[in-house]
Amino acid sequence: MLRLGIMGGTFDPIHYGHLVAAEMARTEFALDKVLFIPNGVSPHKMRREITDAQTRYRMVEMAIRDNPEFTISRIEIERTGPSYAVDTLKELRQLYPHHALYFITGMDALQEIFDWHKAKEILELTEFIAATRPGYESRDFLLKIASEYPQFLPKIHLLEVPALAISSTDIRQRVARGQSIRYLLPKEAYTYILTAKLYLPQADCE
Ligand code: ATP
Ligand code: MG
Repeated sequence: MLRLGIMGGTFDPIHYGHLVAAEMARTEFALDKVLFIPNGVSPHKMRREITDAQTRYRMVEMAIRDNPEFTISRIEIERTGPSYAVDTLKELRQLYPHHALYFITGMDALQEIFDWHKAKEILELTEFIAATRPGYESRDFLLKIASEYPQFLPKIHLLEVPALAISSTDIRQRVARGQSIRYLLPKEAYTYILTAKLYLPQADCE
């Protein structure tokens, strides 16, 4: 049985936290490949302005280019409406009939799974690999899963990754404040952000 890792996210922008989680998941769980799936319209981020999908896609593409086991998929950005994980997983189930699916998330994202659209169906479709992330504990979450969906507990795997307190929010804020983001993300994505002038504060219209 082949194993497919699925790394979904807004990737606004992609950074080393995402890449380390994906790479550690790949090696620890013997995944044959990891598919990076930038969301179109994230149901979790309806409130803030998100960089257009094509730009986020390009940054992911350049950041993963040097890893032959990492690939990128357009399935969420080509779908209209909110990018629900359940729809993506159903599509991947069809596209990869011989693969076991492993959805890679940070602990922060997995903790919110009870609020996701069709959470139970998601848990039926895939295994989860949850990477530790500074500031997010797993104990309460696991207790909740154990009491509400005990049958799914064996499908949730925790993954210790060397702690990286990097987030896209922090990167965007640093750019807006004129601080450096060098070394927080791959060089190509870093250069792209500077060249395309992403994340700068809106110029005052006077
Ligand atoms: P934002 O701050 O905009 O929410 P983010 O850094 O959390 O961005 P997302 O695109 O929201 O990045 O995350 C995609 C996935 O990657 C989520 O499952 C998230 O938990 C995980 N992730 C992001 N950063 C890290 C990190 N530093 N360590 C482990 N997992 C991470
Ligand atoms: Mg996030």
